Amino acid sequence: MKVQLENLTKKFPNRNKKVGGEVVAVDHFNFEIPDGELVGLLGPSGCGKSTALFMICGLQSPTEGKIYFDGEDVTKLPPENRGVGVVFQNYALYPHLSVLQNITFPLENLKGEEKLTKEQMREKAVEAAKLVQIEELLERRPNQLSGGQQQRVAIARALVKRPKVLLLDEPLSNLDARLRLQTREEIRRIQQETGITTIFVTHDQEEAMSITDRIVVMKRGKVQQIGKPQEVYDNPVNLFVAKFLGTPPINIFDGEVREEKLWIGEEEVLSVPGVTDQKVTVGIRPEGFELDEKGAFSCEFSRVEVMGRDVTVVSTHENCQGTTVRSIIQAENKVDLSAKKIRFTLKPAKVLLFDAATDDRIHF
Ligand code: ADP
Ligand code: MG
Repeated sequence: MKVQLENLTKKFPNRNKKVGGEVVAVDHFNFEIPDGELVGLLGPSGCGKSTALFMICGLQSPTEGKIYFDGEDVTKLPPENRGVGVVFQNYALYPHLSVLQNITFPLENLKGEEKLTKEQMREKAVEAAKLVQIEELLERRPNQLSGGQQQRVAIARALVKRPKVLLLDEPLSNLDARLRLQTREEIRRIQQETGITTIFVTHDQEEAMSITDRIVVMKRGKVQQIGKPQEVYDNPVNLFVAKFLGTPPINIFDGEVREEKLWIGEEEVLSVPGVTDQKVTVGIRPEGFELDEKGAFSCEFSRVEVMGRDVTVVSTHENCQGTTVRSIIQAENKVDLSAKKIRFTLKPAKVLLFDAATDDRIHF
């Protein structure tokens, strides 16, 4: 199912009465989600992700704009007629019902032609349970399950009516780190097996980057950028997006362009053809540094952190906006641990320039 959002907007009266006025939770969101894709809706807390999802499933009505499923306007359609399955952030299961009853719950109230017998309901529930690999747990109560298993029940419940669109609102936030990793792989597998168009809301960039076909980065209700995860990482449109994606995060410096050369502090560090003279904000990805005794860019060496395959060189620089500069180099490279200064050559593709006033990207 193709999902189209057209100028989708939601305004709320401000919860903070002292401030008053309106909060624009989602601000003219335009996007066409291709059939069968897994799309990540990504942004910091409060940027409007849940509100966007609630409008798509029909639990909140937009202040402005339209929603189309396969070309049909569903903006005014009640949630139960939209063919969507939802897993909420707090995936409340009914504690007094068994896993089987929890999964069949959405099937109980079907009317007319859609009405199912007990046996048919069970069949569908078992099918959904198999998909999320909990078919051995059907007779248990939720409190007899681990957090990860409960989450799977919630996903099975969302899948049991064979939705055309699956909406997941921070589905992994209640799980511990290890389970999060495993469950996100599961979600990817289930999505690929079923081919259901899926929207996955998260504030965790790594989660979104690792399993989605496409990400939408939001800030204060506004879409900043839409693209394949790697494209957005390599080519962020502004400083916000550049800072939001990547671990360790991008290193940010104050710099200046003079005669098509980039200067950071007293050093001329890179050629930037076509860029006019101006103050710039410079982003350098951790993998953008190459150890080089004759390199143009120098930092004050602090320490080395060994992480198996890679080595992180931690250093400081007067013009860095963060407290430290983190650069990742391959473990084969030897770092002189007694050095005061460390020199790098910068990889041009990993150096991103932004307008110091507007934060917009400057290409070179
Ligand atoms: P996210 O899911 O990205 O954390 P939300 O969509 O929950 O963000 O919220 C977006 C903004 O809208 C926030 O500023 C939030 O306070 C506000 N908001 C959400 N729901 C309501 C509501 N029912 N009434 C008033 N403000 C709301
Ligand atoms: Mg939310």
